[in-house]
Amino acid sequence: MVEPTSFSENTPAFLRVKGETAALMRSLNAANSPLGAPQHWPNSLRTIVSLMLASKFPMFVAWGPELAFIYNDAYAVILGNKHPHAMGARFEDIWREIWAEIGPLARRALAGEATWLEDLPLLMDRHGFEEQTYFTFSYSPARDDDGAIAGVFCACTETTEKVVGVQALRESEAKLRLATESAKIGTWDWDMRRVRGSWSKRTMEILGVEDGGEVTPERRNETLHPEDRVRVWQELAEAMSSGDDLISEYRILRPNGEVRWIASRGAIERDVDGLPLRSAGVVLDITDNKIAEAVLRESGAVAERERLWSLSQDMLARADYNGMMSAVSPAWTRILGWNEAELLSRGYAAFMHTEDAPPTLAAIAHMAATGKPTRFENRIATKDGGWKPIEWTVAPEPDGLNFIAVGRDLSHVKAREAELHAAQEALRQAQKMEAVGQLTGGIAHDFNNLLTGVIGSLDMMQRQITKGETSKIERYATTAMTSANRAAALTHRLLAFSRRQPLDPKSVDANRLVSGMEELLRRTIGEAISLKIVTAGGLWQTLCDPHQLESAILNLTINARDAMPEGGVLTIETCNAQLDDAYVARQRDVKPGQYICICVSDTGIGMTADTIEKAFEPFFTTKPIGQGTGLGLSMIYGFARQSEGYARIYSEVAQGTTVKLYLPRYYGELDGAEEDHGELTDDHRAAAGEAVLVIEDEAAVRDLVVDVLEELGYRAIEAADGPAGLAILQSKVRLDLLITDIGLPGLNGRQVVDAARQQRPDLKVLFMTGYAENAAVANGFLEPGMEMITKPFAVEALATRIRDMIEGS
Ligand code: ADP
Ligand code: MG
Repeated sequence: MVEPTSFSENTPAFLRVKGETAALMRSLNAANSPLGAPQHWPNSLRTIVSLMLASKFPMFVAWGPELAFIYNDAYAVILGNKHPHAMGARFEDIWREIWAEIGPLARRALAGEATWLEDLPLLMDRHGFEEQTYFTFSYSPARDDDGAIAGVFCACTETTEKVVGVQALRESEAKLRLATESAKIGTWDWDMRRVRGSWSKRTMEILGVEDGGEVTPERRNETLHPEDRVRVWQELAEAMSSGDDLISEYRILRPNGEVRWIASRGAIERDVDGLPLRSAGVVLDITDNKIAEAVLRESGAVAERERLWSLSQDMLARADYNGMMSAVSPAWTRILGWNEAELLSRGYAAFMHTEDAPPTLAAIAHMAATGKPTRFENRIATKDGGWKPIEWTVAPEPDGLNFIAVGRDLSHVKAREAELHAAQEALRQAQKMEAVGQLTGGIAHDFNNLLTGVIGSLDMMQRQITKGETSKIERYATTAMTSANRAAALTHRLLAFSRRQPLDPKSVDANRLVSGMEELLRRTIGEAISLKIVTAGGLWQTLCDPHQLESAILNLTINARDAMPEGGVLTIETCNAQLDDAYVARQRDVKPGQYICICVSDTGIGMTADTIEKAFEPFFTTKPIGQGTGLGLSMIYGFARQSEGYARIYSEVAQGTTVKLYLPRYYGELDGAEEDHGELTDDHRAAAGEAVLVIEDEAAVRDLVVDVLEELGYRAIEAADGPAGLAILQSKVRLDLLITDIGLPGLNGRQVVDAARQQRPDLKVLFMTGYAENAAVANGFLEPGMEMITKPFAVEALATRIRDMIEGS
């Protein structure tokens, strides 16, 4: 490379300039160019070259018979890799690949004709590959000092970029046209200042309008759907102020009344101040897309519904008021086992339990009448012959003919309820046994006292008889009788108390119940504690299980006793209580209304706040192991809640405790008051010839029964054990009734009866049992013609039963 600023002394003036090509020219000589060294160039050539070197416009001159090539810096760029060795080389050698095109032009110039060509395509190789180029240039003849044509001068410009760009633009325009045509895209523009616009043909087709020249706002408005007009103009205004592109979807109304959906998109062109000048964009008819979208949405919703229908754990059905179902979900088969055909072919009532069908159909009819959804529960048949409890929610359909039913299987809920119930039952029993256990010690003591009274009196009577005296026998007999009765009452209560039984609510006179327990309670608390019973006059009846209430009072008494180891006062009060809303609002789950209240108060050790809070919890006890189970108060609470009442504890440490038991007032009929001790009357008397067999190992009881029978005029036959009794039964003797103990030596009562009934199938049997637990069990085995009486019994009760059995067929 030649240093452009260093010139040798013989450098001619016209080449003393900067630039790469000038330097190249300076290095030319006869050895490397037909032109030879510049010092020898003619003046005309020097003039042309100095002109070229001064120009930024690409130029060259081809001089002399060889057309040697001289060019300027601007032209060097066009030469590509042909520069720098093109300097001084032959024109034809340099542009061999395009000589066919430019050779003739050069010859024409040499012949004196100037040519001008625009965007001439030339396939050049100047960067190591073939390249499509375009040139605009002029070839003019160049004359030497004597005026003869000595070369060709060219001023040129490469237009490749422009031509290619225009071509690309044309192509893309064509493509766009093709695309807009085939995509049915219309175009529009809008001049903001003139407030006028134009539509393309396609746009007018989309809008369904004729070509009406310029578009005015009025014309545009006419095409818009009335409901979307305001929005469309608002969106345009927003785009104008925000600078965002205009993107909008709206409905148009064609002149023929057809509604179509249009998507429009446009850009806004602004002036230097950012004021909108014009906007242009495209419109596209998207009605089909909208329809497709809607269909998709709809089918999505349908799919969702179908998914719900088939996956729902609940049984879903569509049914009509004529009793048929028209659709059932798969859950039906899963839960009940019936297949769809079975479910749809029979009326829905056919699947209901006969007891449940009338209320269910009534509920459906009510729903039909009111139009309001409702809920109910019933039992539905399963295919394998069982029943399932189902909770239904039904809602009418708007058509007035059908309704929708949603059924939830409650089987496991019910099973859990039953388990809970069983657990509660077990708890109650455990608690009862605890109380019995606590009682036994005291009772045994009392029992002995009572027996002493009985035995003592009998002893005294015996002595009197031995002595032949009779004056005091009457008195001793009365004393013995009283003691024995009290003992009987005591055991009766104990047995009744320990009996396993479900809640059996009855109308209860709490005053009478509490008073009836006095004896038992007194024995429970011992002598150090005094008992006060204060019963309110005019106490309302309550509805609860009387045995449970007794059990509750007994437990409260035991708690009170435990709280007063040094003795004190136990007070049991009854009163009516009116719980008003204000009071009730502070209690959970208590209904306002009228209650009876039983308060059990002691003057014992009391309870801390913490103990009060926990006392109702099952198994909470502060008592040493073996003395407390922590079940007493929890069972009392459970009993109160089950009876729709409630229980509260009030206590002060070292002062005492009051437990209040509220039970709801009962307004209904009184249940049969306890049977009076009746007298024996003529109604109890035997008819002529009637005979009764008595099998009883306890002589005292046997004698008593025989005495009663004889007094009533029956023929009484007795046996002391099973085999003896059976022998009589197998004889031909007349027997209208068998009265037998259940627990007998040899054969028990039941076995005797079973054997005897082989010969006397209609034999009537009255079992006697002293054990309530037995009674409950045996009750299950009682066949027709068999009854049971629990010992001890009143004579009158026995007489009535005998009469009723013999007279009953
Ligand atoms: P238990 O008597 O087996 O402990 P309860 O449920 O009957 O179970 O009573 C729970 C606890 O409540 C008792 O352990 C005791 O701490 C307390 N409690 C119950 N009644 C009284 C009372 N009258 N005086 C003091 N504390 C009592
Ligand atoms: Mg207790």
